Amino acid sequence: MKRYFIAGNWKMHKTIAEAVALASELKDKLADCKEKLMIAPPFTALQAVSKIVEGSNILLGAQNMGPEESGAHTGEISVLMLKDLGVRVVILGHSERRHTYGENDELINKKVRLALSHKLEVILCVGETLEEREHGMLENVIRRQLSEGLKGVELSALKDVTIAYEPVWAIGTGKTATPEDADAVHAFCRQVIAEMYGKDAAKAIVIQYGGSVKADNAAALMSKENIDGALVGGASLKAEAFVPIAKFR
Ligand code: PEP
Repeated sequence: MKRYFIAGNWKMHKTIAEAVALASELKDKLADCKEKLMIAPPFTALQAVSKIVEGSNILLGAQNMGPEESGAHTGEISVLMLKDLGVRVVILGHSERRHTYGENDELINKKVRLALSHKLEVILCVGETLEEREHGMLENVIRRQLSEGLKGVELSALKDVTIAYEPVWAIGTGKTATPEDADAVHAFCRQVIAEMYGKDAAKAIVIQYGGSVKADNAAALMSKENIDGALVGGASLKAEAFVPIAKFR
């Protein structure tokens, strides 16, 4: 049976006390959930949340990472620091990093390769803006983000990579791609991965959908052949919203 990967991205929300409360509630309420689960609190709460989820079925994720192991990089967080805190997965190339903070494919690729070299799992986010979609550029954008983002990543490391397709116009807007539209883009992602790594790798790679996923649309999205999980933003901030997504079936 397919095991879905349901991940929560808490973004710049939650004090340490709030993060601990939410992580504790999720740990209890999701103890019987068989899906692969991850939560990504803000950096400041990683240590406290790490202690809560240790030994549970919830993986600790980080929302970003610097492109170097150490050095004069004011404000950055290193892969070594994340590993120190028990982080297992890192979200890279999120559209907010790309579009608000100007991260390009080259920088994202550097982070992807660094994280993988340290055996962290990577969630590589890709997705088009509304303007790009309306100008017929969707496939070009996705192909570029995948091929540049994964440049230099060996087939043997691909098992540690999850792709998250997140149409930018659907993030935090309440607008969701229809399950059919999302499935078609996921199929295209698989096609690009097949061109890069072969058919078996394309079949095996986990592709999450992200963009206003909620309890009432999760099951319809997950029913699609090419959708293997969800990266959830807003609805991951409350247990009553996230638990039914993780338990969509
Ligand atoms: C996200 O930030 O990855 C996301 C999908 O956000 P939301 O669920 O709020 O649209």
